[in-house]
Amino acid sequence: MKALDELTFDNRFARLGDAFSTHVLPEPLDEPRLVVASPAAMALLDLDPAVAETPVFAELFGGHKLWAEAEPRAMVYSGHQFGGYTPQLGDGRGLLLGEVYNAAGEHWDLHLKGAGQTPYSRMGDGRAVLRSSIREFLASEALHALGIPSSRALCVIGSSTPVWREKQERGAMVLRLANSHIRFGHFEYFYYTKKPEQQAELAEHVLKLHYPEYREQPEPYLAMFREIVERNAEMIAKWQAYGFCHGVMNTDNMSILGITFDFGPFAFLDDFDAHFICNHSDHDGRYSFSNQVPIGQWNLSALAQALTPFISVDALKETLGLYLPLYQAHYLDLMRRRLGLTTAEDDDQKLVERLLKLMQNSGVDYTLFFRRLGDEPAALAVTRLRDDFVDRAGFDAWAELYTARIARDGDDTEAQRRARMHAVNPLYILRNYLAQNAITAAESGDYSEVRRLHEVLSKPFEEQAGMGQYAQRPPDWGKHLEISCSS
Ligand code: AMP
Ligand code: MG
Repeated sequence: MKALDELTFDNRFARLGDAFSTHVLPEPLDEPRLVVASPAAMALLDLDPAVAETPVFAELFGGHKLWAEAEPRAMVYSGHQFGGYTPQLGDGRGLLLGEVYNAAGEHWDLHLKGAGQTPYSRMGDGRAVLRSSIREFLASEALHALGIPSSRALCVIGSSTPVWREKQERGAMVLRLANSHIRFGHFEYFYYTKKPEQQAELAEHVLKLHYPEYREQPEPYLAMFREIVERNAEMIAKWQAYGFCHGVMNTDNMSILGITFDFGPFAFLDDFDAHFICNHSDHDGRYSFSNQVPIGQWNLSALAQALTPFISVDALKETLGLYLPLYQAHYLDLMRRRLGLTTAEDDDQKLVERLLKLMQNSGVDYTLFFRRLGDEPAALAVTRLRDDFVDRAGFDAWAELYTARIARDGDDTEAQRRARMHAVNPLYILRNYLAQNAITAAESGDYSEVRRLHEVLSKPFEEQAGMGQYAQRPPDWGKHLEISCSS
């Protein structure tokens, strides 16, 4: 266990120099205070969880203090936003404080979001509000607990600094952790600004630090691209299987590590709805729930375009072709597991599709359905669940196929099947209304709810005593919350 002043820095990205990032100091928040910290994320830095309660913790992550070895930098990147190219973006309100390595030898980027203006702030104030910082914190840690690759969050620091959005709010900072903060948009920036030398330097950096196993291959960059395609296919399969809607899949929000990144007006589905749009400024539904799958490929094509100086177009096209079959295989595998199946049959895809259509038509709660399906023997579970469906005959027909399929699947005991299903079907997910309750309390200075919710979500598959209220469908007020895009 380390104290805060014992972190070891090795700032590899900063060493790439001024073509890649700019030195900027954090702008401190007034009266910084700890809102919430993640002990699991602190463990990634070997930090003793008790240090979160010390005043120096809030000072460090509220922008007042800095380690001597930290080299805060704002990174430059660009990206396709809603399908159109924006030539220059960059860290407009976040800073890469430095890279810390832990006892296991892992490097973690410390990125402080809401740290003030930078050369890339454009018209923005460089700040993040408490509301969106809490949402990013909760989502990062909840996704990780579900087994969905994601950036992590160490803490949220609140303050009395006024920040103007639709109304006056308070500024906050969230400390994000990731093995890299390099986005598809980094490659696009150097490609479209026609800086081949820097682009090659960036590619070499990513290869060396994040995909070293491919350096000895005949075409290392192609192998690296293939891995990025594979990781994205798997990540998006998990989003779809668990009902996570990212909301702003612009290429500047896509990580070269294939982790969920840059949280905006995201949502987990309550009722299953393939057409759900969580981002209210997404008028065409470009990033609707079901569109996340083709958009994943679109984004990878944008990255492929930026990689044409290194890889032949034919090879890039062939590799992009791997995305959809890989996605489908991962998705089906997960959905089989969610249904309690251990074997594969040709008609399983249809069994899943039929179920989702029935759920869509009846507005069935996506998370609770799967959890309850594993609560009891299959034949009993379906008789209880049928009341949730408007089309009873349709559901009965599906249930008959399902129970027969379960019977053919294997001969483990009911208890084994139940344990297997509960291990993949969460009881607790980050419903928008739960986040909203925690935010409302935090905005009036009570951080107990955000802390409790974070703790519940850190063990989503385990039923926790006295936490039944976190495993409910939303109340009427919480069903279709308008999550502001301003953050
Ligand atoms: P996002 O929608 O958070 O992914 O941000 C898109 C771009 O806008 C990034 O370059 C951000 O750094 C920048 N940005 C977002 N909000 C602000 C803000 N309040 N101040 C400065 N830049 C911002
Ligand atoms: Mg972004």
